[in-house]
Amino acid sequence: MEECIFCKIAEHKIPAQIVYEDEEVIAFKDINPVAPVHILIIPKRHIQSVALITDTDSELIGKIILVANKLASENSIVESGFRIVVNHGKNAGQSVPHVHFHLLGGRVLGWPPG
Ligand code: 5GP
Ligand code: ZN
Repeated sequence: MEECIFCKIAEHKIPAQIVYEDEEVIAFKDINPVAPVHILIIPKRHIQSVALITDTDSELIGKIILVANKLASENSIVESGFRIVVNHGKNAGQSVPHVHFHLLGGRVLGWPPG
């Protein structure tokens, strides 16, 4: 999608600190981190929101969780704990309309989230 900032990152058209990439998935550091580890994991294919994921995406979503686990391990936040967050829509504060999984860790994460 031409207007989408995360599609542009996936296509290497704008810079990002990429920490993982394969044919279907890319992960990069959040530009405005809210925790010592704050990585965004996205499908390269434009899917607007988690609410639009369908049966055919199940393998892709499983892969994203495996990538999150790998990055959590690489960042030494498995033992201390981490959170995977996906925001959908206005009330959850989704600000980029390309589904993204936040991987957060490296500090105590409050619960419930704000
Ligand atoms: P949301 O609020 O939609 O769940 O999360 C969007 C996230 O994307 C935010 O944490 C924001 O800091 C991050 N973000 C927005 N634009 C960019 C960008 O151009 N590059 C990177 N690396 N992160 C971005
Ligand atoms: Zn996109």
